[in-house]
Amino acid sequence: MAEYIESLQKLAEQFGRLQGVGRKNAMKMAFSVLDMTAEEAGEFAAAILDAKEKIHLCPICQNLTDREVCPICADEERDRSVICVVTDARTVLAMEKVREYRGTYHVLHGLISPMNGITPEQLKIKELLARVATGEVGEVIVATNPTVEGEATAMYLSRLLKPFGPKITRLAYGIPVGSHLEYAD
Ligand code: ZN
Repeated sequence: MAEYIESLQKLAEQFGRLQGVGRKNAMKMAFSVLDMTAEEAGEFAAAILDAKEKIHLCPICQNLTDREVCPICADEERDRSVICVVTDARTVLAMEKVREYRGTYHVLHGLISPMNGITPEQLKIKELLARVATGEVGEVIVATNPTVEGEATAMYLSRLLKPFGPKITRLAYGIPVGSHLEYAD
């Protein structure tokens, strides 16, 4: 019985910490690791540590990157006068797959949610304000999800951004549109 093998149990517990992985799947994943050769398992473990060590936030848009500045912010062809504000890095990936947007992004890393104890200070809002305060931003597209938190965050942002004078557009993005885009290949 798998439950009595301590290291297998421990491994399954670690997989169970991953978002969207239930107990049954966590155990399946743990068994898959056992099927690996020692070398493969080493590569697997090293990839986790490597990603954790190398990936940080882009100092401009706060998106995840393993470079000093992310490729989107570093791209001279992108229109820096337009910022699309998104909830998380996954939305950037989804939007980039569609390849229609040529501006830059700003990743908030969450939404304001008093019920979950998430305050504006915990999000990358002051970094956004600093970008808009340079006066070089003509339009901010707020593309948070059309949920209660998404709407509240959008409203909060437009109030803060208005004094700086950019055009503020609301793009109701995310579920179900976002999840649809994310899997569109
Ligand atoms: Zn960036």
